[in-house]
Amino acid sequence: MQRLMRISFLLLTACTLFGVDATQAEDKKAEDKIKVILIDGQNNHNWRATTPIMKKALEDTGRFTVDVTSNLKEGDKPGNVKDTVPFPPDLGKYNVVLSNYNGAAWTAEFQKTLDENLKTGKVSLVIVHAANNAFGNWDQYNKMIGMGWRGNGAGDRLTLDADGKEVRVPKGKGPGAGHGSQHPFKVVVRDGEHPITKGMPKEWMHAQDELYHGMRGPIENVHLLATSFADKAKGGTGEHEPMIWTVTYDKGRVFHTPMGHDVAGMRCIGFITTLQRGTEWAATGKVTLPIPKDFPTAEKTSSISEK
Ligand code: ZN
Repeated sequence: MQRLMRISFLLLTACTLFGVDATQAEDKKAEDKIKVILIDGQNNHNWRATTPIMKKALEDTGRFTVDVTSNLKEGDKPGNVKDTVPFPPDLGKYNVVLSNYNGAAWTAEFQKTLDENLKTGKVSLVIVHAANNAFGNWDQYNKMIGMGWRGNGAGDRLTLDADGKEVRVPKGKGPGAGHGSQHPFKVVVRDGEHPITKGMPKEWMHAQDELYHGMRGPIENVHLLATSFADKAKGGTGEHEPMIWTVTYDKGRVFHTPMGHDVAGMRCIGFITTLQRGTEWAATGKVTLPIPKDFPTAEKTSSISEK
């Protein structure tokens, strides 16, 4: 009987200890999630439709929490995400700023806060598609994004020569930013050793999207990860255009994808995976999120279903 009681006591103790451990582990897990603040509210694109796709793509990994803040025009109706955070957000609460915003200038105070927090590495920045059209007159922003939708007088351009070597085209020479007709296009990984692209197929077909070309900017500390060929037959430049890159902004990390014009472009599993891995890398400098089995191949696009 005594022996039985001792065993029961040990079991009880073990269970209690295990219970405490499990609870602590869960708490830590929640705390360990990367906290993303997604900014939208103004964009010449359908931000009300695209924000929920990006929020879900990130949160489905279990690695992120995504809050949304909408900098609406006065009198404009809110987006489709409930319980949004007022704009401007408190950046002290977040690891990553994801911009789905292309509209009126942010307040000087918020610009300064973002700049300082990014420079010191307290937050990271993720730029998607038309977010690179914004704030052409904000010098620091141009440095943060590396290059974006600007006229050819606004800065240099990056392309590749016949050997695949990077060529810098000076300001004023060649095309400024634009895009041809929308079509599925091939993304060619140029650095397969970077954490974001490691393990990706060397070439993969992106779903129908706008292929931005002639993007311009200061291009400081830009690391080019992938390019796409802008076919002249589709209204492109007939050259290789930057398609995924990172920027080192003092101590800060920036991930930039010019893909993602609309819902169709964002349903591409290539887009989703690069957004997930790029955001994780921006936050931590490392990537743990896998490349899914249904990732697009060199011949075939692959998208999530519409439901
Ligand atoms: Zn677009």
